[in-house]
Amino acid sequence: MRPNNTTIAPSCSIPQCDEPYYRWTHCRNHQGLTDAERFWLRVQFSDHCWDWLGGKNTFGYGRFTVKWKNYGAHRWAYEFCGKVIPSGLGLDHLCHNKACVNPDHLEPVTQQVNLRRAMAHSQREGFYSRYERKGRRLTG
Ligand SMILES: [Zn+2]
Ligand SMILES: [Zn+2]
Repeated sequence: MRPNNTTIAPSCSIPQCDEPYYRWTHCRNHQGLTDAERFWLRVQFSDHCWDWLGGKNTFGYGRFTVKWKNYGAHRWAYEFCGKVIPSGLGLDHLCHNKACVNPDHLEPVTQQVNLRRAMAHSQREGFYSRYERKGRRLTG
């Protein structure tokens, strides 16, 4: 049975593909793709960053689902390219572009280093002070 309102029917989750869903989140043409094909079709390559065009989490990091399990897109790309993330470590974006999945821009660091770097960066950007003001307002 077809949905009545075809204009709001969800379309394939591959960027630039407007075909309707066939199975899960892909159209008929894209439903047979391997995980790697699905992944790289969602990436926009440039000389610098490789931008993730797929779904993102609330922090702006790319999200990639394999067999109902969510992965950080940058972590998935890093391991796909044959690099190993030591257990317990996070991947820091050296380019500060959270959507970037270029393994050359990623470096495994401890949570503390990651946080310290993120804070130093956002202070430079003037973001942290904005966040602070907002936090104060929210907490009264
Ligand atoms: Zn498609
Ligand atoms: Zn980058």
